[in-house]
Amino acid sequence: MLFIDGSYGEGGGQVLRTALALSAILQKPFKMINLRAKRPKPGLQPQHLACVRAIKEITSAETKGDELYSEELIFTPKKKPPRGFYTFDIGTAGATTLLFQTLLYPLALSEGGEVLLKGGTHVPFSPPYHYLEYVYLPIISLFGFKVSLFLEKAGFYPKGGGIIRARIEKAQNFHLPFFEKGFIPEKIYLISLISEDLPSHILERQAKAAIELLSQRGLSCEKLCEVLYEKVKSISPGTMLFIYATSQNKRVGFTALGKKGLPAEKVGKNSAEEFLNFLKSSAQLEEYMGDQILLPASLVLEFKEKGYFTFEVSKITGHLLTQAFLIPQFLPKVKIRVLGNLGEKGEVILERA
Ligand code: ATP
Repeated sequence: MLFIDGSYGEGGGQVLRTALALSAILQKPFKMINLRAKRPKPGLQPQHLACVRAIKEITSAETKGDELYSEELIFTPKKKPPRGFYTFDIGTAGATTLLFQTLLYPLALSEGGEVLLKGGTHVPFSPPYHYLEYVYLPIISLFGFKVSLFLEKAGFYPKGGGIIRARIEKAQNFHLPFFEKGFIPEKIYLISLISEDLPSHILERQAKAAIELLSQRGLSCEKLCEVLYEKVKSISPGTMLFIYATSQNKRVGFTALGKKGLPAEKVGKNSAEEFLNFLKSSAQLEEYMGDQILLPASLVLEFKEKGYFTFEVSKITGHLLTQAFLIPQFLPKVKIRVLGNLGEKGEVILERA
């Protein structure tokens, strides 16, 4: 049984979700202590417990400590996930997108399957649905993971109530993509989104503020930018300005969520500012993809290809370092090197020994 200290690095929910996914894929039991030790409310919160219960269900695992606020978990998977249609409800505004990422690789590397997940879809500190659809899934498809994803209902903080649905194909043809240096945007999409109950002028104000800032800083928006407006069904109000850009086979995405008292213009500018900071770094990928790409890349190295995969990231984060610490514990043949300092631009090299 693998023994993992959950307080390492970031000390949040991610180390647990990645351990659950790898345990299910490899059928390797683990014990984790100090669960989410570095968070103000440590232990399993509803969204983390939902991940434990979901992986438990698809692998018929035996568990100890899968209770709310538990700070220790023993997880012993009993079988590879069978193909099926699975429904999981987080019960709060906890991120369905993170639950989806936890289920994705265990299902893809077994028989595939369909999932319907209820909870938050556009909530802070997690990838919003649109990041998965326009950035994460296109990038992991380069590795050979194919998924169709649908947003049935948006779920914002604090009520949640969102629904996403996904069809995950059994992964068969793996690749290690090559990324050209830098990131020169070929196309920039701005998705301005509001829940149906809010006035339409917010859509335009968010987008206009973002376009203005991008243009002021020298991007030729007339040529490169396309604005898309979306009104979504939801049980509680919410807004978002999401920017994603393409550069050859690379994609990056930046999100600003609205909240009460925050002007629509500020939402637009926040997202544009993040994108501009990324462009200044001249890295190939942004900080979020930096940690999220490690698991698919490591799995492809482990199961299919000899060789290596490397990328430059705009910022080395605690999440990235935590993934680099955890994954080789399950996949000892995969070596992950992170060159650079926390908070700065860096390079990541994955190799199979
Ligand atoms: P905790 O509740 O313990 O803080 P958590 O379970 O909510 O943790 P983290 O461990 O903080 O989650 O992991 C969050 C994940 O969400 C990381 O993979 C991070 O890259 C991703 N993420 C956060 N914000 C964004 C964003 N704006 N766009 C894309 N991905 C994001």
